[in-house]
Amino acid sequence: MPRDYYEVLGVSRDAGETEIKKAFRRLARELHPDVNQESDAEDRFKEAAEAYEVLSDAERRRTYDAYGHEGLRSGGFDPGAGFGSIDDIFQAFFGGGGFGFGGGRAAAGGDVAIEVEVELAEVATGARREVTYDVVAPCEHCRGNGAEPGTPISTCERCGGSGELRAVTRTPFGQMVRSTACDVCGGAGKVPETPCESCGGSGRTRQSRTSAIEIPAGIEAGQRMRIAGAGHAGEAGAAAGDLYVEVAVAEDERFEREGMDLIGTASIPATEAMLGTTVTVPTLEGEEEIEVAPGTQPGHQYVLKGLGLPRLSGRRRGNLRVILEVIVPTNLGDEQRELAERLDETLGAENLEPRQGGGLFGRVRRAFG
Ligand SMILES: [Zn+2]
Ligand SMILES: [Zn+2]
Repeated sequence: MPRDYYEVLGVSRDAGETEIKKAFRRLARELHPDVNQESDAEDRFKEAAEAYEVLSDAERRRTYDAYGHEGLRSGGFDPGAGFGSIDDIFQAFFGGGGFGFGGGRAAAGGDVAIEVEVELAEVATGARREVTYDVVAPCEHCRGNGAEPGTPISTCERCGGSGELRAVTRTPFGQMVRSTACDVCGGAGKVPETPCESCGGSGRTRQSRTSAIEIPAGIEAGQRMRIAGAGHAGEAGAAAGDLYVEVAVAEDERFEREGMDLIGTASIPATEAMLGTTVTVPTLEGEEEIEVAPGTQPGHQYVLKGLGLPRLSGRRRGNLRVILEVIVPTNLGDEQRELAERLDETLGAENLEPRQGGGLFGRVRRAFG
């Protein structure tokens, strides 16, 4: 059993025409699904519309007052039969504009997505790529108008050139106009008398397009760039779609990426860690030498300033952090073993304290500003 109409609109049984209209107006704004996210908003909107449909009509209201819902139905009233979507009711009642219901004009072009891959070193500098992708574009033969060159184009008879078909119905909410794109001309309003041989009259063909893409420095793997208007062409008069370029960054086995920083490793034998040495490490641009001080412990980290990656659209670069790996020699020969044993016998507590700070930390040979 439907709820009482007066209760639905929240008005008293002797409410006047203006009060009823006001109550429905308030409810309609409150319950429009574009602004009300509650799951029952649509049902409540329809309930309010039905209540208004009855109470705004003097004769229906009298029937309802005297005989209730049953009386209306036995009198042949079919609630909601006259209206279409919520947007239609809304538009009829409030007039156009407001909540952004779409018209029936020509459709915009679709988006295109492609992927490009860059090297890690290119993330530091930015890169340029030529990409080739398939796209629906205006037909070159007819220049997009769909007519064989030199043949006339006439106004669409079905829609009279407007590109849309309109159906008008009268409802308690006002005149309801529904428009859809014309099925003959597809919204263009014009029809070629002799369709273009190349595109069959649609004005669009699938083409291969090559564009140069600028990939900014600092891009992260998986980031997407949007190039407005570079996607599929729309129907006549409508905007083209966009091109989305997803950037993949190739693995570089020498480095791990951690935000703006790069992490690399350098390996030396335990003896060199004891004695001190110089190691050459790869950077994105080439090589750098690191001076390892005598007694440096495994896992020690060297920071090469400015040899990491920039932030997206930033200029300053992060650091390259090199972690020292110390390899313990294996498969010792007799002589090596003897030497190691002799060294071992001489080691005292002062040799085995992993020293921290100050002079022990290796210095990068080059001075970084
Ligand atoms: Zn064509
Ligand atoms: Zn038409």
